[in-house]
Amino acid sequence: MAGVFWYNGAWTTEEPKILGPMDHAFWLGSSVFDGARGIRGYAPDLDLHCARVIRSAKAMLMAPKISAAEIEALCKEGIRRMGPEAELYVRPMFFIRRGLGASQPDPDSTDFILSIYDAPLPGFGGFSAMLAPFRRSAQDMAPTDAKASCLYPNGARAATWARQHGADNAVLLDPSGNVAELASANIWFAKDGVAVTPVENFTFLAGITRKRIIGLLQSAGVPVEVRAVKPEELDTADEVFSTGNFGKVQPCIRYNGRDLPTGPIATKARELYFHWMEQGQRLF
Ligand code: PMP
Repeated sequence: MAGVFWYNGAWTTEEPKILGPMDHAFWLGSSVFDGARGIRGYAPDLDLHCARVIRSAKAMLMAPKISAAEIEALCKEGIRRMGPEAELYVRPMFFIRRGLGASQPDPDSTDFILSIYDAPLPGFGGFSAMLAPFRRSAQDMAPTDAKASCLYPNGARAATWARQHGADNAVLLDPSGNVAELASANIWFAKDGVAVTPVENFTFLAGITRKRIIGLLQSAGVPVEVRAVKPEELDTADEVFSTGNFGKVQPCIRYNGRDLPTGPIATKARELYFHWMEQGQRLF
């Protein structure tokens, strides 16, 4: 896989070997990241992803030594290095090297690496999903205000469970039993021409793509409801779809064993997103 990496003031095309058994991030999972995209010279909402990774680091009481603006400039340079046709995943990441005492991370050892690598944009083929028996954590049980690596094994466990039961992805509930999100994307459904997505309640990552799509659908005159969603509502939805930086808008074509169409609202959301992206500035 082709990629470029910025670490310790230098660009490389080889993956830097950075962690050892004594590093806190390796041992106890003290890392945060963000995932943005370079898509054939466009970098949609890159500024928001760079701001979020700083917020995530601070939420984990890390001490970043680089600013959001500096990260954004590095991301743009890396995207340029990969060329105008590339479809890329752009992943700035903070992690802690050393611990103080038992398990306490040392904020002064906050380190940073930027990885930018080929990751073709998925088509609009769709995915299947099931309701998983694992939930998102409450705000006082995990650092749900950060895009923290330590939150991902639970989502990955739900996705693995779904795969073992014949589906591609899992829907997770929040601690009070409402729909939260998919393992690594936000969830939406459509019913009678209205697009619905769960309201932000700090148990799941209310994504940058979700917010962008809410605005784009509303400006196009599509009614959007942002509210608590009961799991049963997905069982009778006309459409279910996801939003997230990696796949942008993806239709769910089978939910809990029920076939679903690639419907008009998901299709419109995707078209609006790419149209908006192409109105933005190209890096080349
Ligand atoms: N939820 C989770 C758990 C995610 O990992 C992602 C992907 N970053 C999302 C939602 C979607 O967020 P965004 O649109 O900001 O990429």
